[in-house]
Amino acid sequence: MTDQINAERAFRDSVSGRLKLAMQEAGIETWQELADRAGCSRVHVFRVLSGRQVPSLHLARKIAIATGFSVDRLCHLGECRECGDTVDEEDRGSHHCAPRRK
Ligand SMILES: [Zn+2]
Repeated sequence: MTDQINAERAFRDSVSGRLKLAMQEAGIETWQELADRAGCSRVHVFRVLSGRQVPSLHLARKIAIATGFSVDRLCHLGECRECGDTVDEEDRGSHHCAPRRK
């Protein structure tokens, strides 16, 4: 249970950090500007940026369109070069195509 709570907190922090990166790459300087460009609630954007809340899929999609930063990147997901499946960028070793360690 504690592990699950810690994992959720780590994910919120990770999304917050990547959203800041998304803003940087898009040349967006403030969270108000991001909310305006994405056409979404400033409160929700602020909560996501401050690591208090994970964005809804709807908000994540709007942010992706406004910044050009994909939902996959926001969630730190990548693509396996072997099979094309979606993989965890933070833990590629757990994917079935990863070489088995002895
Ligand atoms: Zn694969």
